[in-house]
Amino acid sequence: MYKRIIDSLQDSIAVINVDGDIIVTNKSWQDFCKETKGCLKDAGNAGINYLDILSNSDYLEEYNGILAVLKGEIPVFHTTYPCLSRNWYTKMVSPLTEEGKITGATITRKDISDYERERIEMYDDLENMTDAFLTIANDWTITYINKEAENLLSASKEELLGLDIWEVYPDAIDSIFYENYSKTMNDRIKTRFEAYYDPLKTWFEIHSFPKENGGISIYFNNINEKKLKEDKLWNTAHHDHLTEMPNRLLLYKKIDKRIVEQKPFVLYFLDLNNFKLVNDAYGHETGDILLLEIAKRLKKDLPERFFISRYGGDEFVLYTAYIDDFQVQSDAYHILSSIEKPLNNPALPPLNITASIGISLFPENGNSVDSLITAADIAMYEAKKAKGDQWKRYEKVMSKSLNRRLLIEKSLKEAVLSNAYYTVFQPQVDILKNEIIGIEVLSRWKHPELGFISPDEFISIAEETGQIRMLTEHIIDTSLLAYNKWKKISCFSGGISINVSSSLLNEPSFVSFLMYQLEKHSIPRGILEIEITENVQIFSSSIINNHMHDIQQAGIRIAMDDFGVGYSNLSYINNLPISKIKIDKFFTNCIGKNPKGEAILQAIIVLANNLQMEVLAEGVETEEQRDFLKANNCTLVQGFFYDMPLNEDQFIYRLQQFGIKYPVKYKG
Ligand code: C2E
Ligand code: CA
Ligand code: CA
Repeated sequence: MYKRIIDSLQDSIAVINVDGDIIVTNKSWQDFCKETKGCLKDAGNAGINYLDILSNSDYLEEYNGILAVLKGEIPVFHTTYPCLSRNWYTKMVSPLTEEGKITGATITRKDISDYERERIEMYDDLENMTDAFLTIANDWTITYINKEAENLLSASKEELLGLDIWEVYPDAIDSIFYENYSKTMNDRIKTRFEAYYDPLKTWFEIHSFPKENGGISIYFNNINEKKLKEDKLWNTAHHDHLTEMPNRLLLYKKIDKRIVEQKPFVLYFLDLNNFKLVNDAYGHETGDILLLEIAKRLKKDLPERFFISRYGGDEFVLYTAYIDDFQVQSDAYHILSSIEKPLNNPALPPLNITASIGISLFPENGNSVDSLITAADIAMYEAKKAKGDQWKRYEKVMSKSLNRRLLIEKSLKEAVLSNAYYTVFQPQVDILKNEIIGIEVLSRWKHPELGFISPDEFISIAEETGQIRMLTEHIIDTSLLAYNKWKKISCFSGGISINVSSSLLNEPSFVSFLMYQLEKHSIPRGILEIEITENVQIFSSSIINNHMHDIQQAGIRIAMDDFGVGYSNLSYINNLPISKIKIDKFFTNCIGKNPKGEAILQAIIVLANNLQMEVLAEGVETEEQRDFLKANNCTLVQGFFYDMPLNEDQFIYRLQQFGIKYPVKYKG
């Protein structure tokens, strides 16, 4: 009965006595022994000493295990081993006792091939997995690590197994790694995250899972390449392709962040002066080289605390932490002087670059990116208007001025179309002969809502919006028409001077327009004069140079307006077809008041006379000024002392009354 039961068991069973002699075996044990060709083939028979068989073969582990059980040194011996090529067995040896004394042992052998194969396959899978994989026990010791993990961590199993993960990777403590692994370990929550581990210079993508029996499993990948690609994309999206500076998008993000953090800062809105002129005169390639040069300078010259971005076109927006008002000013000065330094790039013509800066402060002038940039932009326009003082801090009243500007911009177009402009005329006087030698045409505009607007204001807006061309052509056409009328009704045959924005000289069709006007109104040579302001950009452009020569050849005179306050590049003046220099009223004003200004005035007169150019002083208001000019050989003047700008009726009345002569009391 007892034999039948143990024979029916699938597990193999043998019982030995304390000496190791086999006492009994079951059928499964006997079958197994028969199948084995090796040393165990006799172990199926009772009476054979099992320990002898083991000691004569290589099964020393089992031999020692059984001895230890028989001696009572261990309560039970357990081992797993492969046998008969593909099969796995587990063997268990437990003692037989009688009245507390060990009298032998039961040996049970179990076929665990299926289970073990699965386990090995799983292990193989883990080993060959393309993901790196490791497991960590409850006490944070590393319990398993696969090949890929060895690769990615540049460490071998021997170096890692059994060690506390935070001892091996101390830099990961207090990091996103620690935070997420702890979540999985303690709260049993799986996590997924991307993190950079600096000591390994690697970006990892990591999944951590709680293990069923405690501890955690971690799957991870090296995602350096993906990050690189992402970085590249991010960089292209956030940087300007020409200057490689941060662009508007990045600027907005950075400022947004500062606003959220409530960190006070100063925003500088920088716009180059006359950049459009450079682009028009020399082409966009030169414009680009100039922008690159400016970008380089700003990066090099400004302290690191500045964030510098290219906002668009020739606009740069910078910001830095607010320190105090003095710092705001000295920074603005620093930025401007960086830009104004002479250019030493052989790819660029000799340009004289200046800029205008508008400044807004956070939180004083706004609490959003848009409001701060708009405020700085408005202040920048004010700086542009106030020539010479090239930076301005935003003030509330400036917003009104922006609205005014927008209104002017809008009505300008209508005014050009509806002839709402008119012109006034200011005589130019030869003080020796005491007679009018010419008149300057000045434009006037009475806005329906805003009233009179100074030409200084609307001309610069018209220049920026491109409406100056239509306006100038209109003025030339109507003035020449009027000129012929005056000739008929009086003996006036002097010159007629019209202000022309230099940028128009870049356009061949404008030059043709001038020629056409001479023909249309039958204007003799030497009568029409255009007044242009000094501007190095223009004087060094060969296109404009050629146009100026064409204009001169056609019998139109060219006067250099506002001489002395602009770029005053004497070597260029000499090479240009210029008939007249008009000295700016700033210098006339210096007479009797400012010796240094007087000295410059005298020098300009000498220069003009030496170059055989006519020289005319503007803004002569007093007898003293007139006399000083006369004494210094400047015989042409213009100014309130003789006449204010006159409207057409006044001018005709004046001509009819006195001809071109002035009453004797004006005679110098
Ligand atoms: P500008 O060409 O220098 O014109 C001379 C300015 O000085 C005129 O101002 C004139 O009224 C003023 N002025 C003349 N004599 C005296 C004087 O004795 N004392 C003082 N304080 N001022 C005197 P306005 O008419 O306001 O013109 C200002 C500027 O606007 C002009 O300066 C010129 O640059 C520009 N502008 C005027 N009309 C036109 C135009 O039709 N086209 C262009 N492109 N610019 C124009
Ligand atoms: Ca003028
Ligand atoms: Ca002038």
